Amino acid sequence: MHTDLLTRWEPVIGLEVHVQLKTKTKLFCSCPNQTGGKPNRYTCPVCLGLPGALPVVNRQAIMSAIKLGLAINGKIRMYNRFARKNYFYPDMPKGYQISQYDEPIIDGGSVPIWWRGELISVALTRVHMEGDAGKSIHDDQGNTLVDYNRSDVPLLEIVSEPVLHDPDQTHLFLERLRQIVRYLNISDANMELGQLRCDANISLRPKGHTGLGTKTEMKNMNSFRSVKRALEFEIERQAGILEKGGTIEQCTLLWNEEKNRAEIMRSKEDAPDYRYFPDPDLVPMDLSQVDISGVRKALPELPHVKEQRWMEAYDLRLEDVQILAGDPDIADYYDTCIGEGVDGKTAAKWVLGEVLRLINKLGVKIGAFRVPPQQLAELIRTIEKGTINKNTGKRILAKLVSEDRSIDEIIRSEGLGQISAEGQLKSVIDNVIAKFGKEADRYRQGETKLMGFFMGQVMRATRGQSDPGKVKNMLEQILRDQD
Ligand SMILES: [Zn+2]
Repeated sequence: MHTDLLTRWEPVIGLEVHVQLKTKTKLFCSCPNQTGGKPNRYTCPVCLGLPGALPVVNRQAIMSAIKLGLAINGKIRMYNRFARKNYFYPDMPKGYQISQYDEPIIDGGSVPIWWRGELISVALTRVHMEGDAGKSIHDDQGNTLVDYNRSDVPLLEIVSEPVLHDPDQTHLFLERLRQIVRYLNISDANMELGQLRCDANISLRPKGHTGLGTKTEMKNMNSFRSVKRALEFEIERQAGILEKGGTIEQCTLLWNEEKNRAEIMRSKEDAPDYRYFPDPDLVPMDLSQVDISGVRKALPELPHVKEQRWMEAYDLRLEDVQILAGDPDIADYYDTCIGEGVDGKTAAKWVLGEVLRLINKLGVKIGAFRVPPQQLAELIRTIEKGTINKNTGKRILAKLVSEDRSIDEIIRSEGLGQISAEGQLKSVIDNVIAKFGKEADRYRQGETKLMGFFMGQVMRATRGQSDPGKVKNMLEQILRDQD
């Protein structure tokens, strides 16, 4: 993006994010909430919109919305209801979508993100529930077919205030939102699978001004990368018009990933009027019977809280705690390892280093990693006791991934125990010095950089199984004493 544009113009971005909930059944019927099956396999009169079929709200979806509401510190609207959003489209068999309009389940709330080293809050307008549409499939003969498996799958629509000012910031907000719903275990939020979708409103204003310019809406961004690119594209497009003294026309744009550009889909004139009204088939939701404080108590520790806790307690860097908290399963792994009594900084080094390297190499998720956190803690303690050194520890970890033997068995059967007995180590060092007498003389005459050479020889003679700190101390002492 041309950064000089951003010295004169400030982008103002608001998002509408749809999160697909992973409930067992759909929002208003008992059809399985599953996609990927044979088209129209998971359908019934309710989600096909057949006359006379009556919807009943899914309790698990309501509880998921409440969990998110509490996690973002929103206000739970104890009395809320569904409304019909009327429009015709082949993938919408009822002729309307059941959504929420002026009485959403959650008002307000915010999402904390790290922005330039500081934790800032991104304000939300609301969160509401709605049923998804079906899916149109265009075949190669020019026909359009419709699959209603996705019809009425429960969605949460999360609407932010127009408070984001940068494509990177927007990206961070979306990532954090995805992280939160994964921590709450209410959605897998995989953007490539359409479980997380987002539309953006974008406008520019002269830098330093507080009013809002005319906004456009960007749709069809199907990956985190395309969100960033589409926003950059639109910011540049609008800035180009404004710099020439033009005005922005309100419109909806579709992002075209292949062409790396957005195309105008419709202008303001055809903006639809959805004629919302309360859905007469669904009674208003009264949440007074729900144990809200119980739900609050059962919430997991949220990622930003973990990040701050780890930074303070273990003196870790922000980049590191962000990786550790990035995936709830990695966060649990790390916390469990610490719970076994291992120092937080040491555990972080191992998890960020060897553990992540191994799971990436194996192409598995941490849940499928064969070394549980308790065993990693045992390995770290074995190193701290001096039984093995760190490099041997790494080799053992790599073995534990594919073998069922215990750490002790591997050390014993492969003779990996550290050579730490002073006498044993001293004889190795004496041999090395005797063998390299010339180098020993040069060292004594002040060529101290030869220490590295002697270290290497001793480590090699002990097959890397000695404590480098100890070797160095003994070498220095022996070379000095033999002077
Ligand atoms: Zn159904």
